[in-house]
Amino acid sequence: MNIKNVTVIGAGTMGNGIAHVFAQSGYKVTLVDVGKDALERALKTIDSNLARQVKKGTLSEDDQKLTLGRIRTETQLVASVHEADFVIEAATERFDLKKEIFQTLDANTPEGVVLATNTSSISVTELAAITKRPQLVIGMHFFNPVPVMKLVEIIRGLATTDDVFSNVKKLAEDLGKTPVEVNDSPGFVSNRILMPMINEAVYTLMEGVAKAEDIDTVMKLGMAHPMGPLQLADFIGLDVCLAIMNVLHEGLGDTKYRACPLLKKMVAAGRLGKKSGEGFYKY
Ligand code: NAD
Repeated sequence: MNIKNVTVIGAGTMGNGIAHVFAQSGYKVTLVDVGKDALERALKTIDSNLARQVKKGTLSEDDQKLTLGRIRTETQLVASVHEADFVIEAATERFDLKKEIFQTLDANTPEGVVLATNTSSISVTELAAITKRPQLVIGMHFFNPVPVMKLVEIIRGLATTDDVFSNVKKLAEDLGKTPVEVNDSPGFVSNRILMPMINEAVYTLMEGVAKAEDIDTVMKLGMAHPMGPLQLADFIGLDVCLAIMNVLHEGLGDTKYRACPLLKKMVAAGRLGKKSGEGFYKY
């Protein structure tokens, strides 16, 4: 793949981070969102994250300017992909929405261009099947915050070719990331292991085995986790955790993946974690 122009779709938490790392590695980035305000917020976030790197001494002021200069924003998806050499979708986690995006991408992106998705739980194979180029569709699952976290899960859809896989793996390495090969399966590797652990922590709390702080302390000090599972759930968003548990339960059909009733109750009450001001902790 000879990649110069990258289109990033969705300028939220993940999209701005993905645009940041591509631009910092010298790629020209078109960042697309339906909302102008989301694009403005994203540019501000990227600028302040770059400024933090400058302050730490890991980036020069010149490179900060050059990186920002490589990012342009766009609200029209169709207009953003005519010159794209690589596309990565990081829009809201909803199948109907991603389906529409992939249909538009397939119809408007030059032939031969790889279409990647940053989805955390939607089947890459299903998204690929929407297009006429399933062999060129792949998962490129970054972690939050993207400029800091080294891991990228590279998810092969059923039809993804070996060439596409190795090119995207190399692309992740060019961004300074560590890619891991994963086959398409509910939750991939990361959420298949992480979410049942969080769900079990919620059961432990619900059954009164220990208080939230104590559950988190056990996992931090006993297992050397940097953050306890309940605090991590608050940071991820309890609605997101519940949605992923539902994907695991539905996709794998095993009752061990059933979402904890307390998790469901908290989501129903609007206690979604940090973003709503309250989850297992108050913010
Ligand atoms: P977010 O809600 O912060 O941002 C999503 C953005 O997509 C919003 O700005 C929204 O306006 C935009 N959008 C919606 N429809 C669009 C369209 N048709 N065209 C262009 N933009 C559109 O979400 P996020 O947390 O950045 O998640 C994005 C994707 O990344 C999801 O698939 C999610 O599962 C995945 N992901 C999230 C995390 C995380 O920790 N937040 C980690 C890994 C992967």
